[in-house]
Amino acid sequence: MEKVIHKYNCIINALPVRCGDCLYINFLDNTSKISRHIIVDAGYSNTYHRTLKPIIDRLAKEGSEIDLFILTHTDGDHIGGMKPHIINFGVNGIKQFWFNYAPTPFTLKDGTDEVSIKQGINLRDYLLKFGKVNSSPILTGHVEKIGDGIITVLSPDNEQFNRFVEEWRNEEPYSEGDVAITTTTTDYSEPIADLIHNEYEPDSSWSNRSSIAFVLQLGSKKVMLTGDAHPDVIISALRTQGYTPDNPIQLELMKISHHGSKANTSDELIKLVDCQCFLISSNEGNKHSFPHKEALARVIWVTHQRRPKTPIHIYFTYNSSILKEIFSSEEQKEFMLICHYPETGNEGITITFCADE
Ligand SMILES: [Zn+2]
Repeated sequence: MEKVIHKYNCIINALPVRCGDCLYINFLDNTSKISRHIIVDAGYSNTYHRTLKPIIDRLAKEGSEIDLFILTHTDGDHIGGMKPHIINFGVNGIKQFWFNYAPTPFTLKDGTDEVSIKQGINLRDYLLKFGKVNSSPILTGHVEKIGDGIITVLSPDNEQFNRFVEEWRNEEPYSEGDVAITTTTTDYSEPIADLIHNEYEPDSSWSNRSSIAFVLQLGSKKVMLTGDAHPDVIISALRTQGYTPDNPIQLELMKISHHGSKANTSDELIKLVDCQCFLISSNEGNKHSFPHKEALARVIWVTHQRRPKTPIHIYFTYNSSILKEIFSSEEQKEFMLICHYPETGNEGITITFCADE
């Protein structure tokens, strides 16, 4: 397990689900003294048993309930784990889900005999049947309290979500994607100082654009978790809240959107955040060559300009020799980069911060 940044109060455990997302958040309410549990995404179906399931098993044994299970969007690297999850647990132990519906239903197939999922089922209808999912989309500006934690949704907004619903019919349906290949071309040999001159080209995926992105606030401390959201949607939400490059949002941690894709991180977004700790949820050798050093170069360049004497922490979900070679030793020194990697195979990386209220 990774060392703490400050002292214990809130932990964010990013699990190694290949080039996917699965985060477990735990914090202790200062007022009720109740331990709160939030899960953001479920990774792939075939990463579930070694990553998320042991956590759910432990919580079930303790008799703890998960306060909120957020499914940021319908791509298989975020929602695939829901199939084995429902086969194992149904909706037991989860108080509520957030899941924004898409016209092509996410269908759970090949159930086992032990549970009643023999036919394919529509995830949304399944969750609705138990009254455990939002009946209208979760959109920008939605605020939810989980104990002392305050969640403020940044993405998607109403317009983007409606367009996603329209566009969806032309897109690829649900797919697990991400076939591991060994020979991918990365941009890791290019220096940060060169990569920052590349023009930002935005992501065109409508499913990514529909991602739920949000800020979780505990006391005065905030973390931003972005799913695979598009930066312009997040920028618009932050600007609406009054944040500007001169008055950026102060964050303890920001998850870099879309596994570090260069199409999902713009200078303009990073200029709106005052943050020294960044999380990348990706393995090496995936078909997209995520994470892109170009995205990290934007993060590092803007952050270093704001606070040239403060270290920049980058957290990875895999301990991999290729990920360790993204930055040269000169770059690590010049930009005061401190990279963190998990010590164990399946537990991922844990980031801890202290809320001060
Ligand atoms: Zn993704």
